This record gives sequence, structure tokens and C-alpha cells, in this order.
Amino acid sequence: MSSTQFSFDVDDASFVLFDQLAVPEALGALERYADLDRDVYAATLAEGYRMARDVLAPLNRPGDRQGCRLDREGNVTTPDGYREAWERFRAGGWVGPRADPDLGGAGLPAVMGAVLNEMFSGACVGFNMYAGLTAAAARMVLKFAPEQWRRPVATKLFAGSWTGTMCLTESGAGSSVGDTRAVATPTETPGRWALEGEKIFITGGDCDLAENIVHLVLARTPGAPAGTKGLSLFLVPKRTFDDELRLGERNGAVVRGIEHKMGIHGSATCVLGLGGGRACHGWLMGGLHEGIGSMFHMMNEARIGVGVQGLAMGSAALQYSRAYARERVQGSAARELRNADAPRVAIVEHPDVRRMLLGQRAVVESMRAMCYRIARDFDLAEHGVDAAARERLAARIELMLPIVKAMCTDLGFEVAVTGLQIHGGYGYTAEFPIEQLVRDAKIQSIYEGTNGIQALDLLGRKLRIQGGRAFMEWVQDAGRATEEAAREGLEKPARALGEAARTVAGAAMALAERSTRRGPDAALQHAVSFLRAMGWVALGLESLDQARVAARTDTPRAAGKRCNLDFFVAQLLPLALAAVRAIESDDESCLQPEAV
Ligand SMILES: Cc1cc2nc3c(=O)[nH]c(=O)nc-3n(C[C@H](O)[C@H](O)[C@H](O)COP(=O)(O)OP(=O)(O)OC[C@H]3O[C@@H](n4cnc5c(N)ncnc54)[C@H](O)[C@@H]3O)c2cc1C
Repeated sequence: MSSTQFSFDVDDASFVLFDQLAVPEALGALERYADLDRDVYAATLAEGYRMARDVLAPLNRPGDRQGCRLDREGNVTTPDGYREAWERFRAGGWVGPRADPDLGGAGLPAVMGAVLNEMFSGACVGFNMYAGLTAAAARMVLKFAPEQWRRPVATKLFAGSWTGTMCLTESGAGSSVGDTRAVATPTETPGRWALEGEKIFITGGDCDLAENIVHLVLARTPGAPAGTKGLSLFLVPKRTFDDELRLGERNGAVVRGIEHKMGIHGSATCVLGLGGGRACHGWLMGGLHEGIGSMFHMMNEARIGVGVQGLAMGSAALQYSRAYARERVQGSAARELRNADAPRVAIVEHPDVRRMLLGQRAVVESMRAMCYRIARDFDLAEHGVDAAARERLAARIELMLPIVKAMCTDLGFEVAVTGLQIHGGYGYTAEFPIEQLVRDAKIQSIYEGTNGIQALDLLGRKLRIQGGRAFMEWVQDAGRATEEAAREGLEKPARALGEAARTVAGAAMALAERSTRRGPDAALQHAVSFLRAMGWVALGLESLDQARVAARTDTPRAAGKRCNLDFFVAQLLPLALAAVRAIESDDESCLQPEAV
């Protein structure tokens, strides 16, 4: 491990995959994944790590310094080395490893996708964004594109010969997608639409990695109802193509500018003009006015993906910080305060640095479990045989999604900030990778639905799914897990977590009642506090589960996981209780006219 070289915690990832979540056994029971045994997962992990460490990580810093460039024709050049790395990356099958083998993929499950995403994003998130969006676009194309293009275009995308984008945001339509103004009007050619408008903040809106780009664009058709109900989804290629995928003319989806951002400089964030003097053609994907429904199809996976990006920032930060704290010598032990000749020690010896390091690890390792678990459940919900179990899992995934997205991205950033603190003054300089991680991580709490919007989704929608049953089942499962852990020798932390889960359930009731009594704003002002409270408990339950599983082995890991759990319950769980106290306070000061 080094404080400047990327590394990935293969041991802990393997522990979560094989010991805690028993992925080979759980998924091996499904026909689709029956051939994947532990050796296949372990080999993929090792192979993916080589790609992350040897090919992607070396791009991270130079790509950050150089950024992307735009020429007058709207062509984006990615940083030096990206094209060559993309060739190796795509040739290795890493753009679409989850695709079916007959579409060029390796048929891997979502949980393995999460592991790879953690590694690749940790190594170079700016690069990996092109791959993430391309794979997401491929899955949408496969489901909603005009029939004759579905498989061939998806195959091009999964292979990384073409790339893909998601075009929702406009200057007046960010969180409020229903305010989209881009329009699509039918042309004389059946099936072909003409698009006009401007999308902003489009990741990979242009790039030089592939021969063509498929933009998936939300737009409004003439006479469509207002709001999200009137939106349709269109496939808008950079270059048009025929049914044999032979490329034709340059289409009128052209980049007008690239953003100069705080981080992820290797990822081109583009203003994408549609039409405006140059014909911009698109083809309807899915039904008319069904654009938002289609987008929801990929949104769940995208939100898990961004949660994993947050985990990746935290996990890379932990690796760098741990290495730095062992290398950096400063001062002597506190007990030697009066002895000027006392030996100098590595900063890892100082209690405050140890507090920061363990805080990072307790958070990162429970986030890893949370992310891999939701991805594994996604596989079980999609391919399981028992319909009732699938339905239950699908509801659990819906409930947990805003928590995974918001907690992991907020905490990934916080872990990176703590990492910078551990580095002291050097952390603030460009000599060490930690300052870039801080800058790269911040965006994750904003895109793919800001974390404020995630909290609204949790409180306003997800707590009510199945008439509140999914949430109550989560509370009951927490009760069961903590009782079992208490019987297995983890009584004190288990009791604290069980009590905290019940407190969160009480807060949900209080907010529902407050909303009825004093109107929605009175409850929604606490949405983030509620998400945080439930999120801390959910992460704490993962820590408890890890300690339980590790305790069955007589290894150093058992003691390490127990440290994580004790730290979590003593120092992080109180944050859940503090959030509940804020909710219970009846405070409405921010809603007063004088407040802002
Ligand atoms: C680097 C980068 C890459 C991106 N990539 C893409 C991409 O590939 N495709 C794409 O379509 N978009 C992309 N985006 C756009 C991104 O998804 C939006 O920035 C995000 O959805 C927020 O929209 P906004 O910026 O307009 O902020 P706003 O919606 O204006 O939000 C500002 C603040 O107000 C809050 N807020 C807004 N509405 C409400 C409400 N109703 N209730 C409570 N709080 C509210 C928000 O939580 C936030 O704190 C990207 C953005 C960036 C910066």
C-alpha cells in the first residue's frame, strides 16, 4: 500500500462477497448464474483489479490536470492516454461485463458490476463515467429502441465501439425534469423525429473514444400534457446509421460548450445543442409520453451505481490515508510529552489520527456491505424463481435506494475530506491524490437526483410503498437481526441498534402525523434528517452483521470488524439519534418568512 499509488481492498471485498453475502451460493441457485462459482468471482476480481491499477489509475492525475478540450466543430478530445486505455478496457470486456454472452458480455451479476465499479471509479472516476453511462444506455436501447436496432446497437455499446449518454437536464429543468422544454416533432419520414432544444451537463456529450455516440434524450412532443407525463424518450445518434449500422451523416446533436468543473476533469460535461440550424434527428424509444417510465427502468441501477461511486471515493481515500498515516513521522507519543528526546513516531500512533482512520474504515466497510447487498438483491429480484420473494426484494430495493445513493455519496465525500485532514498540509497540495478525490467526490451528491431529492423520495414516496409494509418489514428485520446478534455475544451493540431502529420507526410516524396536522412542508423540512437517521441505522446493521460473520472465524478480521462495530455504535449511531431529536423538536424556524 502506498499513499500515492491506487490500491483496492481485495480482502474486504472478498469477505463481503463470499462470507457475509454468500454470493456464489445465493446466486448459484439461479439458473442464470449457476455456472459462476467462487473461483470465477475471485478471478474476475483479480483481473478487474489489474485493469484498475495498471491501466486506469495512471490516467487519474494527468487527466485531472489536462481535462477535456473542445474544438470549433463541437468535437471533444479526452485527456492523453484515455483513447489507448479505452481500447484496452473495452477489448477486455469491461464496458459491458454484465451483458449476456450473445451480446458480447460475460453475463456477470449486478453485484459483480458493483465490485468492478468500486475498483474502476476508485482508480479513475472521470474515465469510468464513460463506461457507466454507455452500459446504462445499452440496457435502455435493448429494451426500448426500435426493434431492428435493439440487439445490434446494444452490442456496439456493450463492446464500447459506440458510447452512450443520458440527456435529461436543461437550464430550467434540473431536479424538476417535468419542466423539460426540448421538443420533438414528427417528420415526413415515418419513425423519424426532429429535435430542437438544448441539454446541459451531459456527461460524455461528445468524446473521441468511439466511432459513434447514442444520446438518449427526453423531449416533449406537440400537444403533449404538461409535466413528466408529457415526456417521451428519443434515440439521437451523433452520426445517423442504417439497419446494418453503417454510419451516415453527422446529426445535429452538437456540443456547444464544456463545463469547467471542480473535479472529474477527465469526464466531458457538455452543453449539447439539438437542432438550431442543423437538422437533428431522433427515433422514439418506448411509447409516446412514456419517457419518464422508461428512464425509471435505468434509474434504479444508475442510483446504485452512483452510490457505489461514493463508496469508491471513500474506499480509495481510506487506502491512501492509511498508507500515509503509517509513512508520515511527526511528533512523539503523548505519554512522552515532556521528553524532548523521545523517539518520533508515525502519525498513525496518535489517538486523533486513529479516530479518523477507524471512523473512515467503519463507514467504508459498512457502505461496501450495503452497496453489494442491494446489488445482490437486485440480481435475486430480477432472476429469482419465487415470485413472492422477488416482490419482497423489489420493495426492499425501492425503499433502500435513496439511502444507498445519498448516504454513500455524502459519506464518500466526508471520508475523503477526513482523508485530506489525515494528510495535514500535504493533503491540501497536488502532491498527493487525496485533494483530487475530494474534488471528484463532491458531484456525486448532486447528480442522479440530488441528495435532497433522494430524501424527499424516501419520505414522500418510499415509506408509503405497499401501504408502508416495506418500511415496517425493514424495522422488523432490524429487530430480528439485532436479537440474533445479541444471542451470539454482541448484546450491547445489538441492543443499541435495535433501539435505534425502533426510534427511527417512531420518527416516521411522527413525521406522517406532522404532515397531516401542519402540512407537507412541516414534515419535508426534516426529510434529510430522516434519511440520515435511517441511513446511519442501516449502515450500523451492516457493521453488526459483519462483526457477527467475522466472529465465526478466529482471524484478525474478527477483531477488526468488532472495532468497527464498537466505534460505530459509540461514535456514529448517536448521529442517528441526534437527527431524530431534530425531527422531534417541532422546530419550524426555517419555514418562517424571516428565516432566509
Ligand atoms: C458533472 C455533472 C455531470 C452531470 N451529468 C448529467 C448527465 O449525464 N445527464 C443529465 O441529464 N444530467 C447530468 N447532470 C445534471 C444533474 O443531474 C443536475 O445538476 C441535478 O439533477 C440537479 O439539477 P440542477 O443542477 O438544476 O439543480 P437544482 O435542481 O436547481 O437544485 C438546486 C438545489 O435545490 C434543491 N431542490 C431543487 N428542487 C427541489 C425541491 N422540489 N425540493 C427540495 N429541494 C429542491 C436541490 O436539492 C439542490 O440542493 C450532471 C451534472 C453535473 C454537475
